[in-house]
Amino acid sequence: MADIASLTPGELAEKLKSFGTKPYRASQIFSWLHREGVTDFCQMTNIPLAERDLLKQSFGIFGCETAGKAVSADGSTEKYLFRLHDGEMIETVVMKYKHGYSVCVSSQAGCKMGCSFCATGKGGFSRNLAASEMLGQVYAAEKNIGSRISHVVIMGMGEPLDNYDNTLRFVRLINDPQGRHISARNISVSTCGLVNAIRQLEREALPVTLSVSLHSADDTIRAQLMPIAQKYSVDELLEACRSFSETTGRRISFEHIMIKGLTDSPHCAKLLCEKLRGMLCHVNLIAANLIDGETFEPSDKAVIREFAKMLADNNINTTIRRSLGTDIQAACGQLKQQHTCSRIGCRPGGDQ
Ligand code: SF4
Repeated sequence: MADIASLTPGELAEKLKSFGTKPYRASQIFSWLHREGVTDFCQMTNIPLAERDLLKQSFGIFGCETAGKAVSADGSTEKYLFRLHDGEMIETVVMKYKHGYSVCVSSQAGCKMGCSFCATGKGGFSRNLAASEMLGQVYAAEKNIGSRISHVVIMGMGEPLDNYDNTLRFVRLINDPQGRHISARNISVSTCGLVNAIRQLEREALPVTLSVSLHSADDTIRAQLMPIAQKYSVDELLEACRSFSETTGRRISFEHIMIKGLTDSPHCAKLLCEKLRGMLCHVNLIAANLIDGETFEPSDKAVIREFAKMLADNNINTTIRRSLGTDIQAACGQLKQQHTCSRIGCRPGGDQ
């Protein structure tokens, strides 16, 4: 069954031609799907019943069903476990900021990248998400919170650039003036560092923010954390980032995990300053989240502050990230892991 909510307005109009429907129906249907976020053709009340029946026979609306929810103690973060039409489970996080709501969207069910600090990476890979399933997370989250979302970060489960075509389709659809029309400038695409895909994204000339999980500027340390570092060196990755920033005029956001005794040394800070010199960028320092089965410990607060100071002294914009929702397992993959494990009666992350 064709996935109607992944179609652009032009593609939808083309498909509907064969139904003999009036040309303006395509924009009405697109609006129901992407402005109203309906999940059933019955809800499209300005479409004649016969045409709704035809749509139902030919298309599916693949939404997200809420299977679990956790709210942080301070109310700033809500994490959802969504069930997809084939039973796959994904996670979506909504964060409340001064500027409004931001949603962290998953791009894959699972992930192939295998980063050692990530619960999703440990769970393996199931499949790519369609653009409609990424949109469905935004629409379902909005229904849950009862408010519109203004910012999107594609930084949940999965590596977005490993699902390149669907991620780009999602960005274009959520940016479409006939749909939610979220500005490309309010959309962040994250990557663990797929250099070829960053080069490809640069050629799209979309003013999205590129958010790069760097985590260490030292190739040896990075390779201990992220298998992708064995394919691309830090220098190759940063060269692609520089080029992206120069082409789009957008600053790069670098994520840097702070792990005690591994990524938080003065050597790491000095190397990072050298490698980022002159680049339009921002660094987010994030204390490691504890996940079961790993021995990583988050860096001490004083060490993180010292690391940040060194970057600031070298004119690198740096933020020590507020750790949102740590009380609700907000790091990616942890709620799913908890849910899955509790269903089969074993300890989250346990080896039973
Ligand atoms: S951190 Fe991101 S890229 Fe790495 S394994 Fe987890 S989901 Fe995949």
